Amino acid sequence: MPTPIWRELFGQADAIAQLEQAVKTRDQGVQHAWLMTGPPGSGRSNMAVAFAAALLCAEGGCGTCRSCTLAMSGNHPDIDVLTTEKVGISIEEVRNLVLSAQMGGSMGRYRIMIIEDADRMAERSSNVLLKALEEPPTGTVWILCAPSEADMLPTIRSRVRRITLKTPAVEEVAQLLVERDSIDRALALTVAAEAQSHIGMARRLATSVDARGRRKDTLVAALDIDSVTNAMFTADRWIDLARRDAEALTTERDSEEREELLRVLGVEDTSKLPPYARADVKTLEESQKRRATRSLRDGLDRILVDLLSLYRDVLMLQLVAEVPLVNEGLKTQISSVANRSSAQQSLEKLRQIELARTRIAANVKDQMVLEALAVNLRTKP
Ligand SMILES: [Zn+2]
Repeated sequence: MPTPIWRELFGQADAIAQLEQAVKTRDQGVQHAWLMTGPPGSGRSNMAVAFAAALLCAEGGCGTCRSCTLAMSGNHPDIDVLTTEKVGISIEEVRNLVLSAQMGGSMGRYRIMIIEDADRMAERSSNVLLKALEEPPTGTVWILCAPSEADMLPTIRSRVRRITLKTPAVEEVAQLLVERDSIDRALALTVAAEAQSHIGMARRLATSVDARGRRKDTLVAALDIDSVTNAMFTADRWIDLARRDAEALTTERDSEEREELLRVLGVEDTSKLPPYARADVKTLEESQKRRATRSLRDGLDRILVDLLSLYRDVLMLQLVAEVPLVNEGLKTQISSVANRSSAQQSLEKLRQIELARTRIAANVKDQMVLEALAVNLRTKP
């Protein structure tokens, strides 16, 4: 039976068993570098934090002691998390982390350094990290998170122990939403498919009518593109939808984090901040502000991922593949596009969407990328 710290992590029994084993045998030494790989939404970062918490807890992850509470709320002094607020991780950020790794733990025996999206490190930054992995100070544990092993330099790969997370099935995600969040079963199945098994996204689609509405508007707008004029209009519409979605998501997440911090600090009346809490709240607000700059780009990427699912559905109908559609709710419109175009054209559209994702990630101007994409997604009336 796993210790309680893993309770929130879902569908990853194999990974958890390996990490638990490492915690259980920590007195004989802990592997000093780990790589958690798995698709977005599989819970890579949460798994990394839970592992860090378990290593630092005297009980191996009780979930309730002071150390566990601090760790799970992101406030443990011996855990450093490098999250990417920018498109890439800068060499300075890695250098600072490496310096901080030299300090050793203040509360416990370990100092744990987590790098989320470690795949966003350019080669130069990776080399700085590599040095640190080659000569680790005792008690320092590095946890890197990335979509796949292939995203990391071979020199780094050879120094880490890999933990692979899997994508849960649509049915499993739906079950979780029913049990954990009391979501209606039919809705849970629909959103789990729409979110392509991304747990956080599925929950958001189930609980926010607005978020679900924006997703639908994005896809319907794409299916309706039949002329260049209409394509230009659609590109503007997508940017507007991405902006509104990013703003909503940022607001939701910011207030959740603030509540959690105040709870940890023991502030009961949240309307007036006691002086001792002000510095921590200010630090949180500053990091939230920095993060907001990346959120529009993430919003655009969500749109592109949704568009991929849409044209995959079109292609499935064209190939007469008997598989459930991701976007079952739009079946009529999807069939119509499938009838008016060829599988060859759908494949080309999928290729264009992937290209747009690469260009957005490479900082090409949003408007330009989306206009070009919209033109390529036209279907003759
Ligand atoms: Zn504990």
